[in-house]
Amino acid sequence: MWMDGREGGRHGRASDGLTIARTVPKVFVDRVAVMVSMATMSAPVRVQGKDGKRRLTITSARASGLVARTSGRANVACRGVGDGKTAIVVGGGVGGLGMASRLANEGFDVTVLEKREDVGGRCRSEEFAGGGEGYRFDTGPSLLLLPDRYREQFESVGEKMEDYLDIERVDPAYRAHFGDHSTLDLLYDIEAMRKQLDDVEFGAGGKYIDWLGRARASLDYGVAAFIERDANSILDFVDLSRVGPLALAVNPVDLLLPQFNQMAKYFKDERLRALFSYQELYVGLSPYNAPGVFSLLAATELTDGVWYPKGGFTKVRESLNALADKKGAKVKLGSEVSEILTEEVSGLAESKGGSHTGRKVIGVRLASGEVMNADVVVANPDLPCVWDQMLDSVGEPAKKESEKWDDAEYSCSVIEFNWCLNKKLPDLLHHNVFLSSDYKGSWDPRPSTVDDFAAPRQHNFYCHNPVYTDETCAPEGGSSIMILLPVANIREQEKNCKKRGVPVPTEEEMVAAGREAILRRFKEAGHGDLSEMIVHESVTTPTEWREKFNIKHGAVFGLSHGLLQLAAFRPPVRTGIKQLDSPVVDGLHFVGASTRPGNGVPLVLMGVKVVAEAIMKEQSMA
Ligand SMILES: Cc1cc2nc3c(=O)[nH]c(=O)nc-3n(C[C@H](O)[C@H](O)[C@H](O)COP(=O)(O)OP(=O)(O)OC[C@H]3O[C@@H](n4cnc5c(N)ncnc54)[C@H](O)[C@@H]3O)c2cc1C
Repeated sequence: MWMDGREGGRHGRASDGLTIARTVPKVFVDRVAVMVSMATMSAPVRVQGKDGKRRLTITSARASGLVARTSGRANVACRGVGDGKTAIVVGGGVGGLGMASRLANEGFDVTVLEKREDVGGRCRSEEFAGGGEGYRFDTGPSLLLLPDRYREQFESVGEKMEDYLDIERVDPAYRAHFGDHSTLDLLYDIEAMRKQLDDVEFGAGGKYIDWLGRARASLDYGVAAFIERDANSILDFVDLSRVGPLALAVNPVDLLLPQFNQMAKYFKDERLRALFSYQELYVGLSPYNAPGVFSLLAATELTDGVWYPKGGFTKVRESLNALADKKGAKVKLGSEVSEILTEEVSGLAESKGGSHTGRKVIGVRLASGEVMNADVVVANPDLPCVWDQMLDSVGEPAKKESEKWDDAEYSCSVIEFNWCLNKKLPDLLHHNVFLSSDYKGSWDPRPSTVDDFAAPRQHNFYCHNPVYTDETCAPEGGSSIMILLPVANIREQEKNCKKRGVPVPTEEEMVAAGREAILRRFKEAGHGDLSEMIVHESVTTPTEWREKFNIKHGAVFGLSHGLLQLAAFRPPVRTGIKQLDSPVVDGLHFVGASTRPGNGVPLVLMGVKVVAEAIMKEQSMA
């Protein structure tokens, strides 16, 4: 996920009423985009309002007379940057669907090619046949963070999110269950939170408020500096107009050192340190190796809130699909792309220089053999898989890129248990995280063998209990419990086993051991024997994650987000750092969790925005 910023003014609102004053003024949030090409009179003039919502488009007088439209393209006879051009979006995940509506809104003739028989990719809700009927699970995302980023996707094409998607805030945001079986809740009410923390450690409430202000600043200024603006070179990291406000608001040392060091400065009690750092799980890191800037994850949960799409996350994919459809994009299911086709253009490499391959995209070949031509191709599958599988025509540069990302750091995988229970678990909230009593030892190495789950060891895992908010998730009196148990990704597991000189266990063995460890934990914590309440179980293993959605190494959160794989160091846009140059092919773009800015639905949607703007710029000059 799941880092992001809030578009806002000088003050960030901390839940119910309290405002956190900033030390520096707001910057870079609103933007005015004006693109004029008077020389050819063929490109449009576009003005985007300060609120980012209203946009006036005046197309070429020569081409079509003077035609103006306000934001939103549906049902309006007019022209945009993409008129007369075709775009193919490979993959119908949230990134692909988001991109499709933006491109269609600009006049492109858009086709989304999705290998599966449904859209949404990892983002979905499921009900399982054969005994699981009536129980609904969000099997991918379950926390809707940064609702403004979802809203922005709809508004960018002239629609209102509320007409497509109904969301409500989950309150309290979370319950953390500790190894000693005590619990603490993430509360929005700052006074209640202060009291709760003071009861654990004298003075912790005041320190919490101090920490939260700084964490919120990391969120606002970090996002403005590196996420809303693509960072393309090492120079971006020393550009004062970019990093100045962030560095003024938060001590740069705190941003760069491991997050746990930052936590240790504020709190003595290990549980408090854990309460604001376990969120690293989301980005495939641990609090011991994630830079302190990742405090922004807990900050967004505590200030922007954790939200629930009514009806589950299937409503998110349905709404993005409906939006793309309304804007005129076509979606073809069961259409696996085997190759992205490119051709050499004479003189292109010389004229563009840098890491340009001298090639432009011309379309795609499907696994069925069908060829489809396009002016623009946007690839949404997990990016390392795109380099591995689809870019043979680019030759050596693609091979190198593929090797480079093969060697990169990947997030964890998860064994996901979906349990249909004939009971409710009264001590669970909607979102729960169970943390190990050996907090440090529980992060590294990630479980790789059956032994790693042996008693009395405890593990960190997430537990979704949506009946807390939405009774329609399960038959009366029952509950649908989804457990995400982080484990080593497929390649990491092989490496760990080799290092220890033990054979790689089968997935069945890992599932059985993992299940046992979770049931043990629930029992020890006083929730009862869940094995007696389970009426149906469905499990997703690392290999299944890899096969279902084409995710490299089954690393469900994609490339991990350590300092060396963030911002300018994250693929794929060409960088100014020579050794990190990524091959450029005209007309080929990437969106999704393993590209910039990173993993999580709101981040992927932010990436869509940045890439869509780049495509418009490129195409208006083409
Ligand atoms: C278990 C889990 C829990 C998560 N929890 C949260 C959460 O609470 N909140 C949150 O914001 N995020 C969460 N995330 C992350 C979030 O789901 C992802 O970041 C996001 O959904 C990724 O979207 P995407 O479009 O990049 O990729 P994907 O969802 O992977 O979409 C890519 C699409 O491309 C298709 N495809 C692949 N190869 C081909 C091909 N050759 N031809 C055609 N199509 C192809 C795939 O089938 C897929 O539909 C979670 C993820 C997981 C797995």
